[in-house]
Amino acid sequence: MFPKSIALEAYNRSGRRCECKCSYHNHGQKCQNILIWNRRGFNGSGGWEVHPIDNNGLVSLDNCEILCKSCFRLVKKIKNKDLANPGLCSMRPALKNSISTTTTTGL
Ligand SMILES: [Zn+2]
Ligand SMILES: [Zn+2]
Repeated sequence: MFPKSIALEAYNRSGRRCECKCSYHNHGQKCQNILIWNRRGFNGSGGWEVHPIDNNGLVSLDNCEILCKSCFRLVKKIKNKDLANPGLCSMRPALKNSISTTTTTGL
């Protein structure tokens, strides 16, 4: 879980908008849902979460993205079955990494 200090930095970096760029969600190129600082974890309008780009990565600003609640839910869902469906959410660097790791081991 990301501490408040990193969450705040990421929140400022995001420009108070969802940073999701997943082309498989129905928000086009970038989500940009407006997020409200004191609604972290809130399940509704303005709600958001800090999501680790790489689950095994560092707890750092570089390894997190700010997602609105709806994207967060979608990303979680896809991550749980990412190995079964590597084509899904291919925009996400974390998935790219896990895919290339499995391919390298195969070679
Ligand atoms: Zn979003
Ligand atoms: Zn999204």
